[in-house]
Amino acid sequence: MSNISIRSVRKVYSGGVEAIPNIDLEIEAGELCVLVGPSGCGKSTLLRMVAGLEEVSEGEIHIGGRIVNDLEPAERDISMVFQSYALYPHMSVRGNMAYGLKNRGQKKDEIEARVAEAARMLGLTDYLDRKPRNLSGGQRQRVAMGRAIVREPAAFLFDEPLSNLDAKLRVKTRVEIRDLQQRLGTTSIYVTHDQLEAMTLADKLVVMNAGRVEQIGPPLEIYERPASVFVGGFIGSPPMNFLPGVASASGVLTEAGHRVSSDRPVEGKVISGVRPEHLIPDAEGPIPLRVRVVERLGAAIHVHGVLEGTRTELVVSLPSPDAPKPGETLSLRPVQDQIHYFSHETGQRLM
Ligand code: ADP
Repeated sequence: MSNISIRSVRKVYSGGVEAIPNIDLEIEAGELCVLVGPSGCGKSTLLRMVAGLEEVSEGEIHIGGRIVNDLEPAERDISMVFQSYALYPHMSVRGNMAYGLKNRGQKKDEIEARVAEAARMLGLTDYLDRKPRNLSGGQRQRVAMGRAIVREPAAFLFDEPLSNLDAKLRVKTRVEIRDLQQRLGTTSIYVTHDQLEAMTLADKLVVMNAGRVEQIGPPLEIYERPASVFVGGFIGSPPMNFLPGVASASGVLTEAGHRVSSDRPVEGKVISGVRPEHLIPDAEGPIPLRVRVVERLGAAIHVHGVLEGTRTELVVSLPSPDAPKPGETLSLRPVQDQIHYFSHETGQRLM
């Protein structure tokens, strides 16, 4: 098992686009590290630099203790799994899985054994003689996984591998990838823009924004203590609610004067963050929500509305079957020890 170390890495594309100003990231051996962030935040750029598909402008990338900056992708001991599967259409499943090993001059017996084992792990044994066009999307993605596994690399690099699958298959394949990665114990970097995928897969979650790391940590820690408004809004669905307001000796008030708490995180303008499940209906609650839309999801109800006297949109997640109706006002109480405070100026967490 190998660790991956990204040290002061910068990427400037030809033409002068600085995609990544400076990133440091340590990925432990056996860990599944997920890079998540909106489109254009630089996650693919970082992954492609680790893979050797993009040059590193400054800094060093180490895989298993070796500096790989100047190594070709084939020399880095990594396997990539792409969104597009990239299977050879004229080759069978067996041929696709064996191809990389044949090219490297592995012995025939060894290749057969590894392909058979990977096919067994992935439930592909009965499909080994089929061509990719005669497989479903999920099966094709499993062949792509199989091709990565048989090489027994130091690391797997996943680039949005589930994006081409429908919602149901995405969940199933996500669980398969996690299970397989745990069984093999192979160090992995996984890129996605989907926060749910990121939360469910990661040992270590890296939230990126505009080429920078916003926060690194275990998924739950990031969910429970987001370092910034950006992270609070990006991780979690529905996202965290943000209430602009003012803190003074009497506590934190919204801009329309509703009392959020009696804390005093700063003096002056502040943004209070509250997750949808931490706004509790309470007839005496200080936060009046003018209800617009009620979404019944089965296990939960999402109530969308606007904080009275403001334009602040809020979402509340309720477990109970009795929900308010559009047009009504729902009084809410924030769970006091679940309020997050962020700087009005920088969006960074205050306490
Ligand atoms: P993500 O994977 O998070 O969507 P990317 O890593 O693809 O983001 O892109 C990060 C930034 O780098 C974006 O501003 C993008 O436009 C730019 N970029 C990506 N590839 C190139 C390229 N080959 N040449 C110039 N700019 C690029």
